[in-house]
Amino acid sequence: MKVLVEKCTGCLKCIDYCSVGALSKVPGKRLAVVDEDECVECGICKRSGACLTDALFQPEMEWPRRLRAEFSDPTVTHPSTGVGGRGTEEMKTNDVTGRYPRGHVGMAVEMGRPGVGARFYDLEKVQMALARLGVHFEQANPVTALVEDPKTGKLRKDVLNEKVLSAIIEFGTTPDKVPAVLETLRRVAQEIDTVFSLDMCSLIEPDGSVPVRDIALKAGATLRPNGKNNLGMGRPAFQFFKEDAQ
Ligand code: SF4
Ligand code: SF4
Repeated sequence: MKVLVEKCTGCLKCIDYCSVGALSKVPGKRLAVVDEDECVECGICKRSGACLTDALFQPEMEWPRRLRAEFSDPTVTHPSTGVGGRGTEEMKTNDVTGRYPRGHVGMAVEMGRPGVGARFYDLEKVQMALARLGVHFEQANPVTALVEDPKTGKLRKDVLNEKVLSAIIEFGTTPDKVPAVLETLRRVAQEIDTVFSLDMCSLIEPDGSVPVRDIALKAGATLRPNGKNNLGMGRPAFQFFKEDAQ
């Protein structure tokens, strides 16, 4: 995002709308400016309608800068997955996609938040630490699409400094590996300059138990079982429900 100097009156109404504090006043002038390195191209300042003189201008973005908009602006679709927002349907659609069948666990590390954001060099640290555990990264995920070396989890060099509002590393594993994943994430959390939340999903067993819940609690995790339920959105339930019913 840029501020057009000739149109800006310096009213500063846009500043409070910036999701990462990239908009500020130019010292000694009635003018706002965007810190281009910090701006995640979310478009919120412009969409807010705060600027009455149309001084906020979003130029065409080249690679790799356009990644910022793809991950941060919900009106932009990810070319690698065809999904908007953070570019993945995530595990919350597992009821209809069946990405994680019985005996498997879906996990996601949601990195960055409004006010903080996340750089891809920090995503790479998490991705590489998880790759060493042999987890299976979700293919229909725009972070996986940036992986240069699937064995190490290394990302493309040209994207590492790009900053986004939030991005999701998504993977599947087996219940026995969950404690190691939690321990690894606790360690790598000390090495990154952003925040993340961790999601886990698994099918509920026929007796109503949730095996991954007990494993996570034993490993010292604090659970907040208040996730979203996407009830199919008109699509049929995945085959494993039919198999369970037989
Ligand atoms: S596009 Fe987003 S990050 Fe950039 S200046 Fe506007 S609100 Fe801030
Ligand atoms: S709202 Fe528009 S005119 Fe006011 S400071 Fe921001 S860019 Fe300038």
